Amino acid sequence: MNICFVTSECVPFVKTGGLADVSGALPRALDDMGGHAVKMFLPLYDRIRVFDHGFVPATDLDGSHVTISGVRRQYGVWYGHLPESDVEVYLIDCPHYYHRRRVYTEDPDEGERFALLQHAAFQIMQRYHWHPDIIHAHDWQAALMPALLKHAYSWDGLFHGTGTVLTIHNIGYQGLFAPALAAGAGLPGWEAGLGGMLEFSGAFSFLKSGIVLADRITTVSPTYAREIRTPEYGEGLEELLTWRESCVSGILNGIDTNEWNPATDQRIYRTYSMKDVGEGKWANKQALLSQFGLEARKETPVFGIVSRFAPQKGLDLLFPILVGLLDRLGFQLIVLGSGDSRTEKYFRNLAGLRPESVGTYIGYNEDLAHQIEAGADLFLMPSTYEPCGLNQMYSLRYGTVPVVRKTGGLADTVIDVHEHPGAGNGFSFQDARPDVVAETIRRAVSVFGHRREWSGIQERGMATDFSWRRSARAYRDLFRSALTEPC
Ligand code: ADP
Repeated sequence: MNICFVTSECVPFVKTGGLADVSGALPRALDDMGGHAVKMFLPLYDRIRVFDHGFVPATDLDGSHVTISGVRRQYGVWYGHLPESDVEVYLIDCPHYYHRRRVYTEDPDEGERFALLQHAAFQIMQRYHWHPDIIHAHDWQAALMPALLKHAYSWDGLFHGTGTVLTIHNIGYQGLFAPALAAGAGLPGWEAGLGGMLEFSGAFSFLKSGIVLADRITTVSPTYAREIRTPEYGEGLEELLTWRESCVSGILNGIDTNEWNPATDQRIYRTYSMKDVGEGKWANKQALLSQFGLEARKETPVFGIVSRFAPQKGLDLLFPILVGLLDRLGFQLIVLGSGDSRTEKYFRNLAGLRPESVGTYIGYNEDLAHQIEAGADLFLMPSTYEPCGLNQMYSLRYGTVPVVRKTGGLADTVIDVHEHPGAGNGFSFQDARPDVVAETIRRAVSVFGHRREWSGIQERGMATDFSWRRSARAYRDLFRSALTEPC
């Protein structure tokens, strides 16, 4: 199959969250299976170092342009590959749109930025006469692909028979813009008016257009695929998703098992595997705590948090309970993250208040993320919603027992030790209430004291297959069904 993969971020070029990990791994896993050719389209943000990644200018595409909202925007293209793969990557070089301080902005032309990306993807396929069997679009930034296919490019026989798949990584981000942008982006303007196919909440919604028109809609875990059909999680799109129910499914993300492998990880203090998890984690725990000036003790459990600080992550559930729990249960906590200022301030203050128990690093630091996974005993993710979540899977692989809220991908990967004796790999709770989180932390700390039971929990987590091979097979089957069976 020829697969056109449109995304707004991709490891190792640019990353703000889990979408980048998926974009870096899924095309490669499809490529590894053989029989597929993948072309990926991504904006060339100014932070992407083209030369470091071996990109070259695609001079044969010089002079390309897209007219958006009446203005002709020129773009160049840089061509390269995902490292060690045949996946072709086309970086769309439009400094006017992509040289901004951040990957995502709140600038008034945010919608135009990603409309250009999607037109450029179609234009480049046309220039190379490359027929995509499947267009795989990710999140609102690429969710116009099915609408553009239908309304702007269907005249071109190159795209006849092309199927579309929209993957929603997080329904909280929908790409809502002024209705006038619809016509400006080459779509029927009236459809962005009240009651139109592109309209949501009085705005032109990129994501809604994809949900209405894609042949298949996927999310990144089976539980999240069910949750977004409910008012609690659907962010207003639940009825539409229920209407399209038979086309909606969930495929759990894999993880990059090379990047996240405790047996080979060069960023951690000492590598380890299932055989020597006890000694390995103890060495890493000492190294981690010493970075924060904390004293490591074998019998004192260390919790880790690595997270964007956003309301979705449920960290404010911890605010009323952490000091009391630290004092009563005597565990330690290492926090890495950045985002909303209230959470940053809370964890900074907490480290000041309990300097012997808490270490806080505000910022983005991939080395430290690995070191926390290796050095912590437990990993905390009390998310209010979590489409898939990667950190709990990294944790399981590193023998770091996750404590999570039962939602989305967390519910699909973490099996509670007390609910499933003999099969559990972590601790989980349902109600997003501080007292329930506190009770779950207490349960986890008490089991930590039982070494043999703890080793069994770690081993079950470490033995789980979270490879992209498994997920890529599921996507391949879905692509095939999108091409052959209406839903
Ligand atoms: P989301 O995509 O909602 O942020 P995921 O758990 O799916 O959550 O993916 C988060 C990814 O970003 C993980 O790879 C995680 O390690 C990484 N990450 C998040 N915050 C930081 C940080 N402050 N420093 C380093 N890595 C981080």
